[in-house]
Amino acid sequence: MSFAKIDLFQPTEEHKLLREMLVQFVKDKVEPQAAEFDKKEEFNLKLFKSLGDLGLLGLSVSEEFGGSNMDALSAVIVHEELSYSDPGFCLAYLAHSMLCVHNIYMNASHEQKKKYLPKLCSGEWVGAMAMSEPHVGTDILGLKTKAEKKEDHYLINGRKMWITNGAIDEKGTLADVVLLYSQTESKNNKVQLSTFILDNKCKGLSVGQKIQDKMGMRASNTAELVLDKCIAPLNTLVGDEGSSIIHMMRNLELERLTLAAMSLGIAKRCLDIMNRYAQEREAFGKSISSFGQIQKYIADSFAEYWACRTYVYNVARQLDFNKQGQRLHSDGVKLVASTMAKKVADRAIQVLGGYGYVAEYNVERLYRDAKLLEIGGGTIEAHQKNITKDLSRNL
Ligand SMILES: Cc1cc2nc3c(=O)[nH]c(=O)nc-3n(C[C@H](O)[C@H](O)[C@H](O)COP(=O)(O)OP(=O)(O)OC[C@H]3O[C@@H](n4cnc5c(N)ncnc54)[C@H](O)[C@@H]3O)c2cc1C
Repeated sequence: MSFAKIDLFQPTEEHKLLREMLVQFVKDKVEPQAAEFDKKEEFNLKLFKSLGDLGLLGLSVSEEFGGSNMDALSAVIVHEELSYSDPGFCLAYLAHSMLCVHNIYMNASHEQKKKYLPKLCSGEWVGAMAMSEPHVGTDILGLKTKAEKKEDHYLINGRKMWITNGAIDEKGTLADVVLLYSQTESKNNKVQLSTFILDNKCKGLSVGQKIQDKMGMRASNTAELVLDKCIAPLNTLVGDEGSSIIHMMRNLELERLTLAAMSLGIAKRCLDIMNRYAQEREAFGKSISSFGQIQKYIADSFAEYWACRTYVYNVARQLDFNKQGQRLHSDGVKLVASTMAKKVADRAIQVLGGYGYVAEYNVERLYRDAKLLEIGGGTIEAHQKNITKDLSRNL
């Protein structure tokens, strides 16, 4: 029996259909372009827009705003299947649909949702989320971008770094919509964070540089954004001034879960490749799959993959968009799945020997992509810190 056929998760009819559709889409449209866009270090905007026709760009958004009203488990299925073929492309999808669109859907006013969501869900607009800065990543509450309230607008100054979809093409064109975190006036000496929805017509918002020569995730664009006396009308503020720490923390939970799902897709692909290769390759007159050390690479990868998959699906089932609060386990799944994916990709390279080290078999690309998952959406050290802190509260 192929282990690909095992499904421990009793999927609903809707989840089954979603996976079937994705498997076909990935085979027909994603796989054929993955190696090329990695090599060119380009984002496939046309392919991205076609996800809108499949209803995937507004996956968690209600139909009223042009979305598909699906759950966290569906989000896991989509990220897992896209990453089986092209994690770089999937990262651009995640930045748009989970970090920008879902965040707007959960926190923005009805008017803002009406203005932005239909075009983001259809693929007419591409969205990004700008939190990190050149000098601040893990220590995110120390971000320096500042919005000063004037009579009829906020004046925002600062720089944002590493923004996926910040630029959407090779020319460095700014994303259509940027969900931005900024400081606003501090109260009681406490940093106040606020969220703004900026569009690409906002005066003073521009792409500083498109970041080139990334190790992996090369099929997604990454950019520095500059806010130079950026004028944000008052109605771009999301929720109340100073209310954003909770937006950010809740959204990070979903980000971590879906990054963990991406890890599953990478690991599954690497397992399939190393398993098949080990059966076919011979050395010393025998299949290399008969050697104990090769068996250890494959069997350990198989068991670790399934252990992670079980954990990820269990957390996804319990993540309710309306009452999130899964920080402990969203850190947990991302910590364990990202390190697992990198390890499995590394073993796949080893099983393939010299062939693993070149592009033809894809495992070297998947290894490069997997490394980002230990950094983006929180480093593994940040997850270790958060988990230990959360556990100590329960003593
Ligand atoms: C390809 C890519 C795409 C990205 N996309 C986005 C995006 O769309 N939007 C966005 O806002 N950001 C994005 N990021 C930024 C990403 O979230 C940050 O890189 C990440 O949070 C780490 O921050 P940093 O790079 O500033 O590292 P730092 O925070 O400077 O960390 C450097 C090292 O110090 C360690 N460290 C820091 N603090 C502690 C501590 N307290 N205890 C132990 N170790 C610690 C870290 O774990 C790490 O090993 C992206 C990054 C990349 C590379």
